[in-house]
Amino acid sequence: MQVTEQQWLSLKEWLKGRVGESDYNAWLSHLKPDHDDDGSEHTVRVAVASKFMREWVVRHYSEILREGITKIVQRPVDVDYVIRSASDSMGEVTRAGKQKGAVQPTAATPTQAAQAAAAPSPIIEGLYKGNTLDPRYTFENFVESSSTRLAYAAAQRIAETDDLVYNPLFIHGGVGLGKTHLMHAIAHHILENWPNRRVLYVSSEKFVYQFIRSLKDHNTLDFKETFRSVDVLMIDDVQFIAGKDASQEEFFHTFNALVDMRKQIILTADRSPHEMDDLTDRLRSRLGSGLTAAIHLPDLETRIAIMHKKAEALNMELSDKLAYFLGENITTNIRELEGALNRLAAHATLIQQDITVDLAQDLLRDLLGRVNRVVTLDEVQKKVAEFYQIKIADMHSSRRSRNIARPRQVAMYLCKSLTVKSFPEIGRAFGGRDHTTVMHAVNKVEELIEKDPSIAEDVRLLEKTLSSA
Ligand code: ADP
Ligand code: MG
Repeated sequence: MQVTEQQWLSLKEWLKGRVGESDYNAWLSHLKPDHDDDGSEHTVRVAVASKFMREWVVRHYSEILREGITKIVQRPVDVDYVIRSASDSMGEVTRAGKQKGAVQPTAATPTQAAQAAAAPSPIIEGLYKGNTLDPRYTFENFVESSSTRLAYAAAQRIAETDDLVYNPLFIHGGVGLGKTHLMHAIAHHILENWPNRRVLYVSSEKFVYQFIRSLKDHNTLDFKETFRSVDVLMIDDVQFIAGKDASQEEFFHTFNALVDMRKQIILTADRSPHEMDDLTDRLRSRLGSGLTAAIHLPDLETRIAIMHKKAEALNMELSDKLAYFLGENITTNIRELEGALNRLAAHATLIQQDITVDLAQDLLRDLLGRVNRVVTLDEVQKKVAEFYQIKIADMHSSRRSRNIARPRQVAMYLCKSLTVKSFPEIGRAFGGRDHTTVMHAVNKVEELIEKDPSIAEDVRLLEKTLSSA
């Protein structure tokens, strides 16, 4: 749907109020309503300047943007982000940034570069200010379960002492499972108990961004000093540092310096250090040298408990039935469950009624559709084998030639995206492979989908056939 200029202006003001002027200028000021409207009454399209910016905006501001846009158009909407580069040369920059070894200058769109030059704030200020901790992400608000037990216990242990118990603590797991939440919880707790300890929380994108900026501004010394002056350093999603050689090198030095100074380091990533292909060996072993704790999707009972907790915070009436329905049907991650709940809460306020399961089914069709298809692992293997004209037996075999291995990876990817099976379960279905092999395959195929249109096409086609079969 189209957003009027007036509406957009009020959104801008609202956003500034929400995220603060400096973050707004750094990340959100370049957003525009996209002129190429798709005609849908439920979707607002927003143009972003580059792939990097889109990832950043979606990761950090998608909920806020949705909330703001919902407010200005006065109905619940979804927000679509389309990349519209200001010029072709900027597209070049984005691509160059993806190459291994290239220093990635993507963070600087032309406007940002100008802002960066004009911004008087030293690095340290930018870092501390930019990433305010989410006050809701506390230990009290975290529902503990066996899926997160080790990570939770370790996090608490670190938060409650100023001794070094584990260094670093490395928490890994899929998106939306509570890694950032736990990290913020540690920070809150430390700051409550030791207000003078300097706790620095940064996303690894920000680390990379600041590092590149300091290279450009010729103040890498400040950069190093900043990081080395903290007591507790938390870097979120370190997988984004992997592959960016210069940043990786700097990260490694910072890391070593902090360890030598006996400072606490806490890291998260979407996978364990030894699954990060792009890391140098010495960084990988360094990252894994403390305590590594995996987190997984909590079981149904815990998911329901989390729903109730979140509903309470939203002041929303949530029946046991509806909580069960959501917990049972949305099995991707907690963030998605929470997104569903937010959408229902917004709707309940709008229509001034409690939400029934039927209504929820209607309102969440897009989310439920993805997991409701009953596709079996066998089916996926069969269809993929047919499609690539290989034998089904090769799905289980240990043959590694590419014309077999690639289809097998595609099949693993589809098993993950079309069923609710876990990595180990999928591994077993593929001739008893290890879960890390499956995770690797899924990552690989995701990467290929981005890079290789013909694979993307194959996967789309297979998804269609499988889900309509
Ligand atoms: P990640 O960093 O792993 O992608 P987040 O920490 O951002 O995930 O979590 C996504 C959302 O899910 C957050 O709003 C968080 O509060 C919530 N969440 C995840 N796990 C739990 C849990 N066990 N208890 C309460 N909330 C949770
Ligand atoms: Mg996170």
